[in-house]
Amino acid sequence: MAKVYVLREPRRGDRAWNIYALREAARLKKWFKGVYYSPRLKRLLAVFKPTPGTHVNPEVFEEIGESALRDAYRMECPRGCNRCCVFRSGAFILENEVNKLPPSIQERVLRQPSELIKTPGGWVRIYRLDTESMGRCVFFDVEQGECMLERLGGKEAKPIVCLLTYCTVFATRNGEKYLKTGYRDLGDGRVEIHYRRVSDEEWEAAIKKMASTWLRFRRVYKSSLRGIESR
Ligand code: SF4
Ligand code: SF4
Repeated sequence: MAKVYVLREPRRGDRAWNIYALREAARLKKWFKGVYYSPRLKRLLAVFKPTPGTHVNPEVFEEIGESALRDAYRMECPRGCNRCCVFRSGAFILENEVNKLPPSIQERVLRQPSELIKTPGGWVRIYRLDTESMGRCVFFDVEQGECMLERLGGKEAKPIVCLLTYCTVFATRNGEKYLKTGYRDLGDGRVEIHYRRVSDEEWEAAIKKMASTWLRFRRVYKSSLRGIESR
C-alpha cells in the first residue's frame, strides 16, 4: 500500500534549506495530493502519496499515518480568486521543474532573471516569475483569469511553490465547503485554524470578494490595452 508523506515545516530564516526542500518536493510533484489542515495535530500538511518504491528524502519528508487526514480540511484555491497571481505573487520556478515544461515555455522561463542558491543538496537555480507590474506573475492570463501553465499542462505544470502556498481561506471536508473564521500561530510550527461550514452562495460571495484585486487590475489592464490600440 502507498505510504503517505508530508513535507517537513519550512525553516524560518533558512532560505537555502527551504529551497532545497522545495526542490525535493518538486521531484514528487505528480504524487502531490494537496495541502490539508489537521485540527488534531494543529498542522498544515503538504501531502504526497508516491508509488511504492519511489525514493523519498527523509530529511525533507516525514511519513504519517493516513488516519491523520481523516478529520482534516483540504485547502482549496477556487477558480476566480487569482489574488496570489496578480499582486506581489512572489512566484518562482525551480530548474528541475523547468526541464519538464514544453520547449516554448522553457524559453520564456530562461529569459527571466535567475539566481543560483547554495543549498544543503547542492546548487539550485531558481527563475523569478513575479516580474510583471506589481509583482504579477508572467504566466498569469489577466483577461481569462487563469494560470497559463496549468492551462497547458494541468496542475503538475505549475511551480511547486504555487501548489504548496495556500491562503487557508477556503477549505472542504467530506464534500462540504468551509470558510476560515480565525487563525492563531501557536509559535512552535503549529497553528490553530477555525472554519465554518458555508452554503454554496456564501462560498461564491467569498470568492467574489477575494477576486476584487484581480477584477480591478483587469479593468485597468484592458483600458491600457485599448489606449495602446487606439494610438
Ligand atoms: S488568495 Fe487563496 S484562493 Fe486566492 S489565489 Fe491565493 S490561494 Fe487561491
Ligand atoms: S505560475 Fe500560475 S499559479 Fe503560479 S503565480 Fe503564476 S499564474 Fe499563478
